[in-house]
Amino acid sequence: MYYGNIKKTDIADGDGVRVSLFVSGCRNCCKGCFQPETWDFKYGTEFTQETEKQIIELLKPSYISGLTVLGGEPFEEENQRVLA
Ligand code: SF4
Repeated sequence: MYYGNIKKTDIADGDGVRVSLFVSGCRNCCKGCFQPETWDFKYGTEFTQETEKQIIELLKPSYISGLTVLGGEPFEEENQRVLA
């Protein structure tokens, strides 16, 4: 799996202060999509075990309410496997 961005402190994509992961890859082709560059499953950076560790560390502070997963499309089968 690849991802386009990790926001370390995001207040726009869920309740409270969150860590947000923007995964790559989407086949929905929604009309008016504002980020078609993320349809490419190889867009951005490869998600590795180091990335996973980084996210776990980012989630530790008490002011972080949770993890938000965005895309691209997190529910694409290729992305589900890694995210699960
Ligand atoms: S990235 Fe989101 S808005 Fe764009 S085509 Fe995929 S599901 Fe639709």
